[in-house]
Amino acid sequence: MNHPPTDNPTTTPAPHQPRTAVTDTPALRADCSTCFGLCCVALPFAASADFAITKKAGQPCRHLRTDFRCGIHTHLREQGFRGCTVFDCFGAGQQVSQITFGGQDWHDDQAAARQMITVFPIMRQLHELLWYVTSALALPAAGPVHEELDAARERIAALTAGSADTVAGLDTLALREEINPLLSHASELARATVTGRRPNHRGADLIGARLTGADLRGANLRGAMLIAADLRGADLRLADLTGADLRDADLTGADLTEAIFLTQAQLTSARADATTRLPTTLTRPAHWLPAGPAQPKARNRSAPR
Ligand code: SF4
Repeated sequence: MNHPPTDNPTTTPAPHQPRTAVTDTPALRADCSTCFGLCCVALPFAASADFAITKKAGQPCRHLRTDFRCGIHTHLREQGFRGCTVFDCFGAGQQVSQITFGGQDWHDDQAAARQMITVFPIMRQLHELLWYVTSALALPAAGPVHEELDAARERIAALTAGSADTVAGLDTLALREEINPLLSHASELARATVTGRRPNHRGADLIGARLTGADLRGANLRGAMLIAADLRGADLRLADLTGADLRDADLTGADLTEAIFLTQAQLTSARADATTRLPTTLTRPAHWLPAGPAQPKARNRSAPR
């Protein structure tokens, strides 16, 4: 939900414009200027720390304007819509708006509106999967599986070009289960280039863990719960962060330069400052602080709580 500016529509670009990661694949980067605000209609919210209101799927958000811009874009966090600053459609919004529906505005046709609302979350899953496969192809050490990754990328890209009915009927769960082992293999190949002990915290409960300065190079952190973890100064190069929950984790001074499968949404959900080192494909979230005091250097230990 990274709409262009709306409080002042004449001002561009937006503060939280495209946050998607792989910079050389614009189709996988949200372009709200060519989307009909689909995320603000299709997705349900429950009132929480991330959303100030409850909204059903298919119900336009009360802040969505008729020109598909967000009426509170520059104040989302202050107004309790932190979740909107974190959400990333991986370019699915413009794909559905402009390709699947050929630029047809959902205001004009209720039947098309219902279909768009059905198709958008499925297209988002396809684009997210494409993003992961594209990211895996960027790992030089994953060379032995590049051919398979290329084939997977072509196959998923072909699915994204299908008709609305075809996309609506896809079993994305089965597709993910088929592609995930390939992504895991690519990750293993990349992480194997790290010498020494590579911690395995796959799916671990590390909520609030003190990992200050931890050496997590090449670690498996897939699906790890790192909510509010203290990762200041941690070395996360070549750590696999697929699906890791980094909400409110403190990444101040951490090194994420070669982190594997780290998305912009994960980064935006965390806290940090200007000292945090990022992959070149990700952008520093606008709400991060300027540089603070120096952080501890990474040390040779893995992740006790
Ligand atoms: S507040 Fe509403 S209109 Fe604005 S980005 Fe979030 S869902 Fe969209």
